[in-house]
Amino acid sequence: MNRMKRLAMILGVAVAPMLLGRTALAQQDQDFSKVQIKVTKVSGNIYMLEGAGGNIGASVGEDGIVIVDDQFAPLADKIQAALKDLGITNKPVRFVINTHYHGDHTGGNEPFNNAGSTLIAHDNVRKRLETGGTAGNGGSIKMENKPAVKAALPIITFEHDVTVHLNGEDIRAMHFPSGHTDGDSIIFFPKNNVVHMGDDFVRYGFPFIDVASGGSVQGMIAAMEKTTAQLPADVKVIPGHGALSNMDDVRAYTKMLKETSAVVEKALSEHKTLEQMKQAKILAPWEKFSGQFINSDAFIETLYNSLTGHKGELLKHN
Ligand SMILES: [Zn+2]
Repeated sequence: MNRMKRLAMILGVAVAPMLLGRTALAQQDQDFSKVQIKVTKVSGNIYMLEGAGGNIGASVGEDGIVIVDDQFAPLADKIQAALKDLGITNKPVRFVINTHYHGDHTGGNEPFNNAGSTLIAHDNVRKRLETGGTAGNGGSIKMENKPAVKAALPIITFEHDVTVHLNGEDIRAMHFPSGHTDGDSIIFFPKNNVVHMGDDFVRYGFPFIDVASGGSVQGMIAAMEKTTAQLPADVKVIPGHGALSNMDDVRAYTKMLKETSAVVEKALSEHKTLEQMKQAKILAPWEKFSGQFINSDAFIETLYNSLTGHKGELLKHN
C-alpha cells in the first residue's frame, strides 16, 4: 500500500478526493461494507472497539453508553450493534467524546448526533471541524479537509477538561496542548483504570504529527511525560491506533520521540539543512518505526518543522 493510500485510510475518506484526484477516488475509497467491529473487554465495563480508523473506547453500563471517538459514518450502525450485542444495556450512546478533529475519529459524529448522542470535544475540535483546512506535517504530507456539516460539530466544548459522570465513574477528558493537533484530549476512566490516549500515542510506527493543525513533537512528548507521571503505573492504555497497550509501551514510544528529536536538534545546531538530514539518514537507528504511513523522511520533516517553529496555524482557545 503506498503512503497516500495508507494516509487516506488513517485520516479518513473525506481527504481522499483532494489527495488523490477524482480518478483515483473510486479505487481508494474504502469498502466499509466489509469492515467488522471487533470488541475487546479492557477492564470492568470498559471496552475497546476496532473497525476502521481510530480505536473506540466505550463505557457500557446501567446509565447508558459513552464512547470515545466514532470512526467513520458508514460504520455507525455496526458500532451501535456491537455495543448492543454486549447485552449489558439497551440504553443508547448518550455521549461521544472526540479525542481530536481528524476524520477517522470524528467521521461518525453526524449519525451519532442524529441518533441522539451528545458530542463533546475540546474547543479547537469544533473550530477545525467547522472551518475545515489543511492538515499535514508541514512537508510532504498535506491534505485538505472540507468544513463539516453542522450535525457533526460537538455541542459541548471545553478548554482544559471536562468530566462525564456516568456508570458510576468520573470519566475525565483532559486537554493537552499542541501534540498530535492543537485540540487533543486524553480520556481517563479512573474506576476501571483505563486511559484512551487519542493519537498522542499510536502503534503504527513514527506518529503522524499534524504540524499544520498546531501539533508539535514537543507537545506530544510533554503529554506523554505528564500522563506517565500522573496515571497509575498499571493503567491499561487504548492507543489512537493499534493494539491495547500499557505504560511500558508508552515509555518506549516517548523515549523514541525524545531521542529522535535530540538527533534532529543536534543536526540543527550544526546548521544542517532538511535535505542533508534526510541524505545522512539520521533516523536510521530507529528504522523499525519507519512505516508506510510515516517513513523516516516524513518524520525528519515533522521533527524539523516542529523544532524550528515552522508550525501551521495554532488556534487560540475560546
Ligand atoms: Zn489523528
